Amino acid sequence: MKMSRMGIGPIKQAPKDAETINHKLLVQAGFVRQLMAGVYTYLPFGLRVLRKIEKIVREEMDAIGGEEILMPMLHPAEIWKKTGGWDNIDVLFKLRSRTDRDYALGQSQEEVVTPTMKEFIQSYRDLPRMPYHIQWKFRDELRSKSGIMRGREFLMKDMYSFHLDQADFDRFYEIAKKAYLKIFARMGLTAKVTEASGGAFTEKVSYEFEVLTEAGEVNILYCEKCEFCVNVDDITSYKRGAQCPKCSEGQLQEAVAAEVGNVFDLGQKYAKAFEVKATLATGESIFPIMGCYGIGISRTMGVIVEKFHDDKGIIWPEGVAPYQVHLIDIRQTEKAQEIYDRLEAAGIEVLWDDRDINVGGKFTDADLIGCPWRVVVSEKSLAEGQVELKARKGEDTELLSVEKLLEKLKG
Ligand code: ATP
Ligand code: MG
Repeated sequence: MKMSRMGIGPIKQAPKDAETINHKLLVQAGFVRQLMAGVYTYLPFGLRVLRKIEKIVREEMDAIGGEEILMPMLHPAEIWKKTGGWDNIDVLFKLRSRTDRDYALGQSQEEVVTPTMKEFIQSYRDLPRMPYHIQWKFRDELRSKSGIMRGREFLMKDMYSFHLDQADFDRFYEIAKKAYLKIFARMGLTAKVTEASGGAFTEKVSYEFEVLTEAGEVNILYCEKCEFCVNVDDITSYKRGAQCPKCSEGQLQEAVAAEVGNVFDLGQKYAKAFEVKATLATGESIFPIMGCYGIGISRTMGVIVEKFHDDKGIIWPEGVAPYQVHLIDIRQTEKAQEIYDRLEAAGIEVLWDDRDINVGGKFTDADLIGCPWRVVVSEKSLAEGQVELKARKGEDTELLSVEKLLEKLKG
């Protein structure tokens, strides 16, 4: 992409109303705009990152047997009344039509996916099933001051699973947990898995995937030696500094984290409400055990910015960067065009700052936008038939030929 052709890009000043780093940097670098608290427009750079995160999530959900669908955001009130959510879920946005009908905006999709799957789940042979979708959610959150980390409208991946019995849910939960850890690792994040109570929806347990960041809203205790981790807000009997109850070796450390995903064991609540039944070989019928698996796609984008930035701007991990390479030519030359064409032909995504502005401004914007690699074409480097390469996260620059550059970026 040539920046000279873009009408939307970075700006000089950070927004005054931004209380968090992700809000400040994402606005200044030209990734998002806030329409009102908790509601954002994703600009071209921001949309590219959102799509990259989605792609990683989609690949890993497909790999464990997920079937992607797309469920609506506008729901009839009846399905929410059936499960009690209409009166009990405080974040549910409700609307009334001009014909006096009531509707809800989807805050999650159990009420839609369960009756949808009823038709496809008739016998034990139809289980397990794992439909999922990536869709905007609406929640009447009281506070929404964490930038895109807490939206009133936000993008979520939600998978729902249907199982013959508890053992099959447990088996699939282990598979889903591995997939989740892989998803976050592909985005450069380390997630800790907490065990926590499932709240009002179910008496069953839920598991949260937490990334350590001061911008989060969850207090956790974790073991410095093993993977033990608990949400302090739920499980208060554990104390900071205490010996780890799991490995007995490490001490429990206190930290603030952001929940990027979670898994709930839904039991038979929704299957019973919508009368989803599977017939066994014996002729007897059962209500399937359900699970739900969320990942906050837009929140994760915010968490990545909170984790990876410096005083100059964002430092995107390779897997989710809007572009791999930020190309800068000191003076507009045909050589830059040639390098741009060769990188693009090799399948490398390039943002070329070919704007007619001073070079200092180009360097400032490159650091702000945060593509993993910066390639500079200068008279000095060109004299030697080379370009200058610098990683956004490092300090060192390297002179190398275009062939070597291609090899390095492809590797
Ligand atoms: P939280 O405790 O942060 O409100 P939750 O337990 O309500 O989260 P779920 O209903 O399980 O979250 O939603 C699944 C995932 O969606 C969460 O793990 C989180 O990553 C994301 N998410 C939830 N609420 C929001 C929000 N208001 N804005 C952005 N992402 C959200
Ligand atoms: Mg919530």
